[in-house]
Amino acid sequence: MDKIKAKLQQIKENNLYRQIKYLNKPQDKYTTINNKKVLLMSSNNYLGICNNEEVKKSAIESINKYGLGSGGSRLTTGSYDLHKKLEEKIAKFKGYEDAIIFNTGYMANIGVISAICDEDYYIFSDELNHASIIDGCRLSKGKTIVYKHNDIKDLTNKINEINPKHGIIVTDSVFSMDGDICKLDEIVKIAKKHNLISIVDDAHATGVIGKTGRGSSEYFNIKPDITIGTLSKAIGSEGGFVCANSDIIDYLINKSRSFIFSTALSPAVIGASIKSFEIIENNPYLVKKLKENVEYLCKGLKNIGFDINRETPIIPILIGDEKKAIKISESLLEEGIHIPAIRYPTVKKGEAILRVTLMATHDFCDIDLVINSIKKLI
Ligand code: PMP
Repeated sequence: MDKIKAKLQQIKENNLYRQIKYLNKPQDKYTTINNKKVLLMSSNNYLGICNNEEVKKSAIESINKYGLGSGGSRLTTGSYDLHKKLEEKIAKFKGYEDAIIFNTGYMANIGVISAICDEDYYIFSDELNHASIIDGCRLSKGKTIVYKHNDIKDLTNKINEINPKHGIIVTDSVFSMDGDICKLDEIVKIAKKHNLISIVDDAHATGVIGKTGRGSSEYFNIKPDITIGTLSKAIGSEGGFVCANSDIIDYLINKSRSFIFSTALSPAVIGASIKSFEIIENNPYLVKKLKENVEYLCKGLKNIGFDINRETPIIPILIGDEKKAIKISESLLEEGIHIPAIRYPTVKKGEAILRVTLMATHDFCDIDLVINSIKKLI
C-alpha cells in the first residue's frame, strides 16, 4: 500500500495526475461536465451520432425484441441474428469478404495480434500505434520490432535486416493523438512483397476519411489483409470489429481469446450500430461537413501561428510543458470550452498537447470561438 501511495504522489508531482470528469448530458456538441455547460471540442463522436434519435430508437427496439443483456459469450448463447446482420453490414461497408464484432476496439486489437502471432512471428509496429496495439504485441508470443513513426525507410530496413518468414505489419491508419494518416499504400505493398500480413486500425478513420467515410481503404484505394476498427467513435455506439477474408475471420472465431472469453455485446448497441451505418450511407453530407470543419480550423490556427495541416478531425496543438498545457486547458474550461491537455504516457514527456477533435455538428462560429480563446491564452 505504501508503494502505491508513493507512486500516486509521484504522478501528482510530475503533473501527470488524472481525474475522471463526469458528463451530465448526452455527448452532443454541447454537454455538461461536472454540471457546467461546455462546448465539446474533445469528442470522438465525430459525426454527432451518439445522441441521434433514429439510433436511440433502434437501440430501444432491439431491447424490446431481444432484451438487454446478450446472456452469453459469442460462441455459447450470446450471438443473435442481429450480431450477424451487423457483421455483414460492416464487411460490405468496408469492402471485405467477412467481419466479426468484438466488444471493443481495444479487445479487437489485442485479440487479433495475439491470436495470429506465434513464437516464429515478427511484428513490425509503428512507434505511435495505439496502446491497444502495443498491448496486443505484448500479449502475443511474437517478437515486436518498433519502426519510426510513419517512416517507410526505417520499416523497410528493419524488415530487410530480419528477413522474416512469418510476420505482420500493424499500424493505426489515423494516429489517435497526432491525427496524421499512415502511408497505407506503401505499407500494403511492402507487406505483399515480404509475404507479411498487413493490419490497419481504422478506429479514427471509419466514418471519417475516404470520400464516403469508409476509412483508409477508400482513402488509399487499397486493402490491407485485415482492417480493425471501433464502433465507439464516428459510429457513435460501442464495440470493435475486424474485417478480413473468411479464413482469417474463421480462425479468429476459433482462436482469439478476447473474442471467445467475454460476454457478447448487448443487442441494444448492435441495433444502434446497424442504424448508424445506414445513417452514414444515406447522409453523405455528414462526412463532408466534418472535412469542411477540419479545413476551417486548420486555416484559423495557421492565422494565429500554428501550422497544423490535417485531413482528420484530430488536431494536436503542441504546447510542450505539461503544466502549461493543463493551465490552458483549465482556462478554456472556465470559458466553457472543453479541450483536454494530453500528457505522458499518452504522448512523450515534455510534448504535451491540446487535443482538439471536431464533429460534423460544429459550425464555423464554434470554431472561431475556439481559435479566439486559444489566441488569448497562448
Ligand atoms: N484504436 C485506436 C487508434 C483508438 O484510438 C482506440 C480508442 N481510443 C481504440 C483502438 C480502442 O477502441 P475502443 O474504445 O472501442 O476500445
